[in-house]
Amino acid sequence: MTAWDSAFLSVPPLTEGEDRLPPAHKLYALRTLPMGEIRAIGFDMDHTLARYRSPEIDELAFKKAARILVRDRGYSPWLLEMAYDPAFAVRGLVLDGLRGNLLKLNRERQVVRASHGSRAMERLELEAVYGRRRLSTAAKGFRNIDTLFEIPESHLYAQMVDGLDRGLLKAENYLELFQDVRWAIDTAHRNGEMKAEILEHRDFFIPQDPLLALALDRLKRAGKKLFLLTNSDWTFTNGVMGHLLDGQDEARLRWTDYFDLVVVSSRKPDFFLETPESQSLDGQPRCYSGGHAAWLEFMLDAQGEQILYVGDHIYGDVLRSKKSASWRTLLLVPELERELRLLEAKADDLRELLRLETARRRTLRRASVLMDQWKRNRVRRHVLGPRLSSDATVALDQEAAQLATSAEALQRRAELQRLELAGLTSAVEAVFNPMWGPMFRDRDELTRFADQIQQFACAYTGKVGNLYMYDPLATVYAPLPTLPHERLA
Ligand code: IMP
Ligand code: MG
Repeated sequence: MTAWDSAFLSVPPLTEGEDRLPPAHKLYALRTLPMGEIRAIGFDMDHTLARYRSPEIDELAFKKAARILVRDRGYSPWLLEMAYDPAFAVRGLVLDGLRGNLLKLNRERQVVRASHGSRAMERLELEAVYGRRRLSTAAKGFRNIDTLFEIPESHLYAQMVDGLDRGLLKAENYLELFQDVRWAIDTAHRNGEMKAEILEHRDFFIPQDPLLALALDRLKRAGKKLFLLTNSDWTFTNGVMGHLLDGQDEARLRWTDYFDLVVVSSRKPDFFLETPESQSLDGQPRCYSGGHAAWLEFMLDAQGEQILYVGDHIYGDVLRSKKSASWRTLLLVPELERELRLLEAKADDLRELLRLETARRRTLRRASVLMDQWKRNRVRRHVLGPRLSSDATVALDQEAAQLATSAEALQRRAELQRLELAGLTSAVEAVFNPMWGPMFRDRDELTRFADQIQQFACAYTGKVGNLYMYDPLATVYAPLPTLPHERLA
């Protein structure tokens, strides 16, 4: 290695075919992203730059919160026996703290799946409680499970609901459990115990990605201003970011060398709504605690759409920054890699589902036309009755009988197709998660979570390192928006 080489980050050779990106390495644009017009790119830290090892990190929060509930709130030690089930909850669900339920909502905010505690609710039970009403999750007692941090919370709550129902735990009602679990998870994050443990075992909890330093370096060399904007405090941020970036590149020895501005303890989403003063951090140039969006724009000399913010929280990082500050947004979805892998594994079944559904609709359409012909036949028979010859009457009746038989046969076929579809759909969805199915859809509908992504994210991807393969000055194109009538057959 020459002295010249050693001053730079070593880059893995580009292998044959790597220009055709595998799905898990792609950026999926929902709105066209003209990267050349972006002056500043910001990053959230937790679950964005730092991808925590899951489910281990979730289990850590789950166990810590259970211990806090037993120790400080007098809950039964039964809670400590609970095993953490990584498959129990997924992101995008909504917790109903009044009723002890977890809910999956569709795009119209109607409940499509639910569990009471950890027991799946039957459709009839679910419809009796929620009907087909649009649910406002901003109402008291509801909590959106929108970040990976909230998954252990929903799991612990479900276990506590089971405990209360079985008489193993004491509480006034489900809402009290909800408030206590919220408090316990909050305490586990704030009292420093969990963060200390993560930092102590950072090699285990925070896997490194060699593409991360490369991606940031490429963006910087293209003239982008980079910033870090995290709700974590300085000590934790310094520990995590140091682990991820220190010493990765001899030209940027410290992690702070990648950033033009670092903001810790940022209090998102309030960072986009309020205007508290920022405080500079002693001995750390370009590093601040707190502040607000307008101040950050001033510091970076970039405004609104000239800023791209990359984060994992659909509300705190993406919805708020887009709605309140008009920033462009890139949503990090760590689960995307797995969802894509499963989609690929189930591609044949998904094609079969499409074929079956098309066939079922055709069958129903033919059945309905035959039924209409039968009705016309009967009306004719009734109206013309006395004026028809007996031969004509017999012919009409025979035609009616044939029409009825054919229509009924088609209806039976459609019902069989429906049953086959339902069976295959459940089997495919259960591969994603036995209780909840895939994150982004439920049968043929998008979920609330997918709808929010469509509304507020300019693009989404699985990890920050994916940015390395994109030209920082080239436009990332979204598919042309089309209405159904504009689609070419
Ligand atoms: P960010 O994603 O980098 O903005 O940071 C998220 C921060 O919020 C991390 O430091 C988490 O530990 C912290 N956090 C997550 N959930 C809670 C909570 O319920 N209470 C307090 N802090 C939380
Ligand atoms: Mg985050």
